[in-house]
Parts: sequence; structure tokens; C-alpha cells
Amino acid sequence: MTCPSPDRKVRQRAPYRAAPAFIAEAVQRALAGEQDCIDWPYATSERYGSIRIGGRTQRAHLVALEQAGRVMTPGMDQRHRCGRRICINISHLEEGTRVQNMADAIEHGSIARGRRHGRSTLEEASVLAIRASQESSAVLAERYGVRPNQITRIRARTSWAWLT
Ligand SMILES: [Zn+2]
Repeated sequence: MTCPSPDRKVRQRAPYRAAPAFIAEAVQRALAGEQDCIDWPYATSERYGSIRIGGRTQRAHLVALEQAGRVMTPGMDQRHRCGRRICINISHLEEGTRVQNMADAIEHGSIARGRRHGRSTLEEASVLAIRASQESSAVLAERYGVRPNQITRIRARTSWAWLT
């Protein structure tokens, strides 16, 4: 008898079947004025959020722009003004040339180096919003694209303890 090796299973940080709904919700939140980054909690490719649609891997932020009806000029880049490729908040995206996009990457790369290890996917503003919120850990985890136990640690100040 053979069993599939558990190691071969692809681990996702969130149920992948919810990925298209996550994009639709992210578009709605952006249109409603969401200021924070909306981090893609699923698979990534070259640090961009990626999603498989109809057998093709696509960049999640481009799918979000498409869903929002944003006109994208062929040959132009869609720049992340926040400098975070994992973010799919369409209000952080702006069309630009490849050269502008490269300049962004250099600028944001130098900013990122100054931050604490750049390991966390959460911004300080998000941490403060989580602590102020009365919503459940599950709801907040979904919104910020992290695991519920990370929300619990933030609230208990086990993580981000220095931020008050
Ligand atoms: Zn962003």
C-alpha cells in the first residue's frame, strides 16, 4: 500500500479556494477607501502575489486591477507606490514605465533596509488597528492575511511588544 507523502502537499497560509473572493473583497475595500496595504496571503511568485486562473498563473495585483476595471496600457508596468509587491490594494498601484518601476524598487529597497529585519508582513498602523479593534482574531487574521495566533500574540503584546 502506498500513501502520498505529506511532504509533497503544498502548504497554503489560507484556504486557496478563497483566493478569487479575497481579490474581489480587496477591490471593494480599496474602493471604500482602505489606506493600508492588503497583503496577498496565498502563493507568491517573485514576491508578487500569484493566483492560478484557467490554468495560467497570474499576478494577483493585476487581476485586482482588471476586476476594478482599470485600463492598463500594454507595455507599461503597474507600480506599487507602497513598495510592497505582495500588496494588492489597487489604490497603491499606479501605471508607470519600467524605468519608474525600477526606481521605485531601489527607493523602497533602501527604506526596507532601515526597518527591523523587514520580516513582518504587518505595518505598524495595522498592529495598532488590531489592538484597538473589538473584532475576532479570525476576522482580523483574514483581513490582514496572517494566522489567527499572530493576532492573538499582537493583542497579548507577545509580538510587536515595543509598539504602544
Ligand atoms: Zn500597499
